[in-house]
Amino acid sequence: MTVSHILGYPRIGAQRELKKATEAYWQGECSREALEQTGRDLRFRHWQAQQAAGLDLVSVGDFAFYDQVLNVSVLLGAVPERFQAAREIAAGDIDLDTTFRMARGRAPSGEPAAACEMTKYFDTNYHYLVPELHEGQRFTLASNRLFDEVDEALTAGFTPKVTLTGPLTWLWLGKSPSGELDRLTLLDSVLDVYCEVLARLATQGVEWVQLDEPALVQDLPLAWQQAFERAYHRLQSAPVKLMVASYFGGLGDNLSVATRLPVDGLHIDAVCAPQQVDSVIDRLSPHQVLSVGVVDGRNIWRADLAALRERLLPLKVRLGKRLWLAPSCSLLHVPVDLAQETDLDEALVSWLAFARQKLDEVVCLARLIDNRATDLDEQRLKAATQALDERRESGRIHRPAVGARVAAITAEDSQRHAPYAERAVAQRRALNLPLLPTTTIGSFPQTPAIRAARRAFKAGEISQPDYEARMRSDIAYAVERQEALGLDVLVHGEAERNDMVEYFGEQLDGFAFTRFGWVQSYGSRCVKPPIIFGDVTRPDAMTVPWSTYAQTLTDKPMKGMLTGPVTILQWSFVRDDQPRDTTCRQIALALRDEVQDLERAGIRIIQIDEPALREGLPLRQQEWQDYLDWAVACFRLTASVVDDSTQIHTHMCYSEFNDIIGAIAALDADVITIETSRSNMELLDAFQDFAYPNEMGPGVYDIHTPNIPDVAWMVDLLEKALEKIPAERLWVNPDCGLKTRTWAEVEPALANMVEAAQQVRQRY
Ligand code: GLN
Ligand code: ZN
Repeated sequence: MTVSHILGYPRIGAQRELKKATEAYWQGECSREALEQTGRDLRFRHWQAQQAAGLDLVSVGDFAFYDQVLNVSVLLGAVPERFQAAREIAAGDIDLDTTFRMARGRAPSGEPAAACEMTKYFDTNYHYLVPELHEGQRFTLASNRLFDEVDEALTAGFTPKVTLTGPLTWLWLGKSPSGELDRLTLLDSVLDVYCEVLARLATQGVEWVQLDEPALVQDLPLAWQQAFERAYHRLQSAPVKLMVASYFGGLGDNLSVATRLPVDGLHIDAVCAPQQVDSVIDRLSPHQVLSVGVVDGRNIWRADLAALRERLLPLKVRLGKRLWLAPSCSLLHVPVDLAQETDLDEALVSWLAFARQKLDEVVCLARLIDNRATDLDEQRLKAATQALDERRESGRIHRPAVGARVAAITAEDSQRHAPYAERAVAQRRALNLPLLPTTTIGSFPQTPAIRAARRAFKAGEISQPDYEARMRSDIAYAVERQEALGLDVLVHGEAERNDMVEYFGEQLDGFAFTRFGWVQSYGSRCVKPPIIFGDVTRPDAMTVPWSTYAQTLTDKPMKGMLTGPVTILQWSFVRDDQPRDTTCRQIALALRDEVQDLERAGIRIIQIDEPALREGLPLRQQEWQDYLDWAVACFRLTASVVDDSTQIHTHMCYSEFNDIIGAIAALDADVITIETSRSNMELLDAFQDFAYPNEMGPGVYDIHTPNIPDVAWMVDLLEKALEKIPAERLWVNPDCGLKTRTWAEVEPALANMVEAAQQVRQRY
């Protein structure tokens, strides 16, 4: 019999119960016991869903009040000193509030301290808390939560498989604040605790433990490859069965490392890397289980059960009962339950599967290849085939004109007429800006009144003309304030935008929006990515009326504001029936039309935001160039339609620019603004070393805090910037948009910024 299981289930709850409970707890509006009860209820419900679907094992250890990587740090007693948890560590029982303080700097009890760093988990939009490591660190079993959850599952009659981040991936994700540490020197002590954990799980009656080692799909230094072998030889003595789980890509050059590990099972991602399955099987030892991840754990499309059955049957012949089936990775990355989407049209619903539906898909496949399919399974198989046939042929997906337009893209379409140096002259003449021009990144405060108006409009309580009039008055206010502040290049303030991707997606054809399709981003924060299901077109101009209205209110240049094609792609669920770059080109063409319309309407500066360019980088360095090539091409396709005298800006938030500086230069934006204030302009080194040729606005105002930066501080930052960028190419602006701030914070901060620019200008 083929065992069916999952690598993890979303923990937020179908109604985001976990978000609501944790936030209420942090606010002091819900007791610790009530919070714990919410956790127990959710776990129970999720195990029940897995069992009811027919999975052979339920997943325990995937629950976390904040983050599963943080949970492992707590399990290992890896709590930095500033959280003053020595007594809790010694007692082997770290308090939940300590965990929350590590995550957010504060909790209902305990002294606030600087939170741990947070960053994206591999190439997903999920953020984990970076384990803080230091030389000579010792680890000790410091939490009982995992064991309690195992007991909970066992008492309720479930058969648990425990899932934990593996020791190597945990170290791989960790960082020493001082930077200088060979993390592998800590491995032995980490393994001591893992051994203890595994032994204890065994005494509880756990048979299988899944250790997540997605580091195996990245480029690993030799020492790390060897460490895998060493680590798992030690863990081998544990009295449980171990399954090492890889996902988000292929094992590549770690193939023999992974297949030689002395463990009882291996999980591989057959969605991202279908071609690796046979070579893994060839190398597997005869007793090892292979869990094949065939249902996409990162996207929302319904699985093609018939095709998968065909693919799996030969594997079944080869592996017999050593074949297990699962989604490709934890279902953490998809929304919870499609059944709630009562507003989506029927056809679209029939093409989708969320976490709850993916359980059924895995189970159904297992039964199909075992020849023990029930009537229900046969029905599911038929329904899937029918839905997929419809999807393949649907006129809502395929618009021949779009395909023809993409096919007709020429190299010239992605090429501005003149090189930057010539464009700069034309732009200087057209725009007549002072030296060190001041501007902002786009959004102004999203006030409670703006949000209330949007809610009322969506609820049908106010009419469209009414809503638009309100937005116009907010735009007028933002323009008036900017004029009073003396900024040089103004923005309309983005009052009308709920979100920088959703706003565009809602106006483009080919996009759909769910009501409850929430996915955890970090802690209690969830995002609801749009679904790109079809060829993308732009029925009408999206931003032109707002920008032109704003331009009528001022003689200063009004900057048009768009989200770039790569960012829209990156922050959406994308089609699986065509390559990502094709979808990106379609979006780029739609945005190109918008750029052209803005220019025709008299907008002479257009900003195309691409904060997600860096995060789209593939996990393997070998694939970077290909990605960067098409990503850059898509940006340029969007931008290059304008005259030389129209100035194109782009904005990126904080990024590791070193890796992609060549690509950033290749964007050939006339001006790039980036987040630098917290790094004290050090990020500019990458640009300087590269001799970045175009204009730059390194942020001088950290918009992530409510603090008002003073003039001297910003003058100092500008002077640092001037050591790296000549004055003719330097802009003055905040780090990012101001939508999360209040006017009371923004006005004095921008007044100081303008003053700082004026002071520095006088020296030239
Ligand atoms: N134009 C956007 C804003 O100002 C940019 C946001 C971002 O970079 N994340 O809000
Ligand atoms: Zn930004």
